[in-house]
Parts: sequence; structure tokens; C-alpha cells
Amino acid sequence: MDGLIRAAMTEADKAIETGNSPFGAILSDANGKIVEAAYNTTKTDSDPTAHAEINLIRAVCKKLKTSDLSPFYLISNAQSCPMCVSAAVKAKIKNFVFGYAEDETLLPKITIFEMRKYCNEELYIHTNILKDECCRQIEKTNRENKKNISNNLY
Ligand SMILES: [Zn+2]
Repeated sequence: MDGLIRAAMTEADKAIETGNSPFGAILSDANGKIVEAAYNTTKTDSDPTAHAEINLIRAVCKKLKTSDLSPFYLISNAQSCPMCVSAAVKAKIKNFVFGYAEDETLLPKITIFEMRKYCNEELYIHTNILKDECCRQIEKTNRENKKNISNNLY
């Protein structure tokens, strides 16, 4: 699992380098082979829905010409937000792997653990894989963004 989370962190680095929010996602098969990778492009695309997971799901469905991603694992450097969990459930994804998984990163504040109560299929969720590394990457970016915002104000 560590290698897949590190791959998601590499995607998050791409998001950071392009001025987007620090999130990356990977889709792998059950053997851990990476099928596709994507990162957050909300700022560069001026699209609030362009989260890493959404970009990933769209890319894979288009590439494989299917809307059924049930054989795959969704891996993200941070716990997916409700929009992304909903999109993943629509794509029939049942296996989730997250790095940093703290509730305060989510808006609106509905966790995948609450959402799974309302799903027809069981969701299998692995959290806090390389949590500290993922947390540092996200917090460092958030700190720098706040600094840049305040620099722009003065
Ligand atoms: Zn999301």
C-alpha cells in the first residue's frame, strides 16, 4: 500500500507545482498495478469539481470505455470528500485507500464512514497509510498558500 500512497503523493506534488490544491489519486488493480493517476486541477481548470478523484474517474472511464470501475482500488493521499466518494460509488468502486484521513479536511463534513451506511454495497476503507508524510505535504502547502495570500494583500 505504501508504494501506491507514494504514487498519489507524487500526483499531489504535480498539483502543488501547478498551483492547485495538494491532492493526488491513483487507480490500481487488485494486484497494485497502477491503471491511471491524476491530480487536483481546480485552480488551473477554474473547476471546483476537478478534484484528483474526479479527474481520475473521468480519465479511466474514458480510457477503458466503461463506467464500471468495480475491479479497482481508489488510492488518495487524503480522505476523499463527499463529492468524490459519491462519484466513486457511482463508478461502483468499493475499495478505498487513504493517506491522511482526518475529518476536518472534509467539506461538507460528511465522512466516507457515514456515507457507506447509505450504500447498497459494502465499502472497504483503509486509512492512515503514511499518514504523517501525507499530512506534512498537505499542511506545508496550506501554510505556503496562506503566506502567499497574505503577501498578496500587502
Ligand atoms: Zn473530492
